Amino acid sequence: MTEVNATGAMPARAGTPLREAGLLDRNRLLATLMSNLVGMVYRCRLDAEWTMEFVSDGCLELTGYASGELVRNARTSYERITHPDDRERVRAAIHEGLARANRYDVEYRLLRADGDTRWVWERGVGVVNGDGRVEVIEGFIQDISQRHTAEDALREAERRYRSIFEHATEGIFQTTPDGRYLDANPALARIYGYATPEALIAGLSDIQHQLYVDPERRREFVRLMREYGHARNFESPVYRRDGGVIWISENAREVRDENGTVVCYEGTVVEITERKRYQEELEYQASHDGLTGLPNRALLVDRLGQALHAARRDNRVVAVAFVDLDHFKLINDSLGHHVGDRLLLDMAARLRACLRGQDTVARQGGDEFVLVLADQPDEAGVTRVVRRVLDTISRPWAAEHGEYSISCSIGVSLYPRDGEAAEALLKCADLAMFKAKDLGRDTFQYYTPELNHAALDRLALANQLRQALERDEFVLHYQPRVDLASGRIVGAEALIRWRQPERDELTPPDRFIPVAEETGLIVPIGAWALREACARNRAWQAAGLPPIVVSVNLSPIQFRRAGLVAEVADVLTGTGLDGRWLELELTESFIMQDAERINLAMAALKALAVEIAVDDFGTGYSSLSYLKRFPVDRLKIDKSFVRDVNIDADDAAIARAIISLGHTLNLRVVAEGVETDAQRDFMRSHGCDEMQGYLFSRPLPAPEFEALLRGQAAD
Ligand code: C2E
Ligand code: MG
Ligand code: MG
Repeated sequence: MTEVNATGAMPARAGTPLREAGLLDRNRLLATLMSNLVGMVYRCRLDAEWTMEFVSDGCLELTGYASGELVRNARTSYERITHPDDRERVRAAIHEGLARANRYDVEYRLLRADGDTRWVWERGVGVVNGDGRVEVIEGFIQDISQRHTAEDALREAERRYRSIFEHATEGIFQTTPDGRYLDANPALARIYGYATPEALIAGLSDIQHQLYVDPERRREFVRLMREYGHARNFESPVYRRDGGVIWISENAREVRDENGTVVCYEGTVVEITERKRYQEELEYQASHDGLTGLPNRALLVDRLGQALHAARRDNRVVAVAFVDLDHFKLINDSLGHHVGDRLLLDMAARLRACLRGQDTVARQGGDEFVLVLADQPDEAGVTRVVRRVLDTISRPWAAEHGEYSISCSIGVSLYPRDGEAAEALLKCADLAMFKAKDLGRDTFQYYTPELNHAALDRLALANQLRQALERDEFVLHYQPRVDLASGRIVGAEALIRWRQPERDELTPPDRFIPVAEETGLIVPIGAWALREACARNRAWQAAGLPPIVVSVNLSPIQFRRAGLVAEVADVLTGTGLDGRWLELELTESFIMQDAERINLAMAALKALAVEIAVDDFGTGYSSLSYLKRFPVDRLKIDKSFVRDVNIDADDAAIARAIISLGHTLNLRVVAEGVETDAQRDFMRSHGCDEMQGYLFSRPLPAPEFEALLRGQAAD
């Protein structure tokens, strides 16, 4: 910095002849310096106008006035070109400086000749005269507008950043690596529940233990900082000042000085409690059943995997149990879905109560639950639990309209005996559950390899069934239905059989109807049976035999299809059979399932004069009020009640009740499976209208039945 001081050679004396070569050089040097200086060297009186006695060439560039215009206030004075707002301050600064140290240093604004305002910096000293007083000052003035603009810009930038800092919705912080706050913005204070950033900084002195719910999280944060220099979307639960827990997500980085030493961590914080809650909710929904809150299939597979892992390690047994409520659909459809839902909820709670904490109860869907019994010692232990489940489920269940006895069928598979992997064990348990259903429900069944063979057999059977229709391998047998009073044949039930090429015996319907229903093949098979029975009946009539009603069994699958009524109408026209000689048999349990729709279809069938019978009556849950609403003509007492009617008082009571119920509703009642005279006599004495059974005749091939009918006609 150039500074001209009082003892140096002064420009005022530049014109004085100089005797010494050294001094001459010095003067020239000074002259060169001054004319090339960016800035102005001056000598000035300490008067009201700051009258300039000398200004260097830089004057023009600095002020826009030529030296001559300023010296001795020729055109203007330095006071006048000092910014009016700064004049007083400049004067005070100079006097104060001179008084203190005989030097001064001041910044102010200058008004240039061209009207511009410039920031200048001035530094100078007082020149002491003979009597020790200062009347003149000498110094240097430099344009510092550029620096000022830069500083202004800096200040402005800082103000802006500060504003962002102050008003950001994200929390912003600077902390020491050991967990003290250096700075924090109002948003951070708000997030953590403090009134101000200052209160936060004062109140939170140990971030690791005061802030983080799990101090381990802070250690992890510091580890990330050390390893990568930053942490991104770092999510943790933290305590608010009031002790409440919120979730935050942090983005932060390490700040180092030029030597590479870590100065602080700085970063931002957003509160994500809502998002986290929502996320947890979604995760929960994705892994739990909406109705019961039990784990769903996905979570089940997960839990089973864990249980298997542990069992492998500890050499223990894991059991997978498929629990299927018996006849749930019936209850759901007849009592309404809200009752069905309550039943599922209550059964879920019962299942939970049967098991230990480490076991899993999952809902597989519908009325199917899956239990994972982890860490079992042996099969005997599993059996005990499964029996307990059966007992618990079958305790009476109270609904709005009364008490019900619910039961379930359970299939069980065991690790390691039946499989190693979750999916395999689930499949085995599922197969075993079907076996339990086959065994008559309300029981449990362990998986055996034969079940798998049975499943494979079913698959093969389905394939053969597909071909059976094309190859015309089905036949209908006819079983007479006899009027109990007169003993005459009044009808016949058409019962299907399958003549499999490689077998001598006919395959009975029980062996293939379930598979046909599973695969949907029952639809074309049923259509064939309907057409065949109607055609046969029409042929008998055409042959002059006394007309009878032929009954055809309908599968629920056929009934559920929209086209059934049209199909029946079509068959009647096609075969020329009058509708009143056809009867359709529906099972009781099915009728209860979808009452409204079935009622409509039944009405349409009645319009074709077709009769309707309820088959296997007594095995379902029909209530009188339901039955009343259907246009039914006949009830067929299930043969299971007929069988023991003479030995079992309950069965006798049921049979009697069905007969009187049927008569109350103006229906004809048929006893099925009558094999003995005693059974027939019971039925006859209690007013049953008709019977069907081996006592009178087994189901017969069409020609034999025709002969029987002809024989009767001849009587
Ligand atoms: P269902 O409709 O209840 O038929 C009565 C069953 O009882 C017949 O068995 C019949 O042979 C048998 N039965 C008749 N009298 C006696 C008796 O005195 N003692 C005993 N123990 N049984 C007797 P089948 O023919 O084996 O038919 C079994 C079931 O298969 C039928 O039960 C019916 O539900 C179904 N079914 C038969 N044909 C068809 C069909 O064409 N379509 C459909 N969807 N199902 C059919
Ligand atoms: Mg039947
Ligand atoms: Mg029956």
